[in-house]
Amino acid sequence: MDTLAPAVADAFNLLQMNLYRHLDEAEFVALKCQKWTEEDIDTARTLIPDLVIVIRGLLFDHQVRPGGECRICTSAWPCPVVTLAHGLIKDPHRQFVALVRKVHDAD
Ligand SMILES: [Zn+2]
Repeated sequence: MDTLAPAVADAFNLLQMNLYRHLDEAEFVALKCQKWTEEDIDTARTLIPDLVIVIRGLLFDHQVRPGGECRICTSAWPCPVVTLAHGLIKDPHRQFVALVRKVHDAD
């Protein structure tokens, strides 16, 4: 595999840090120690669907092709991206599982 030119590597690093900064800010709202303000609640109500859109977008891009490989990664499906998302979404210690269980139990 070719190594990246230092300028390109720096640009990728900056892009990655910029993306992490957005995620850090989103996480900061949720982990804020003080009582949530109305603005925090409004932000969370907007932010949660935005984060779900990001996850759905990743899963949409990494769908399986008829031949059994990921259409983006071209590795065997489930590809590493889908495997990671699956592990995080189905982790019983995260809220995704608790939410589904709560809705299912209410039916
Ligand atoms: Zn993939």
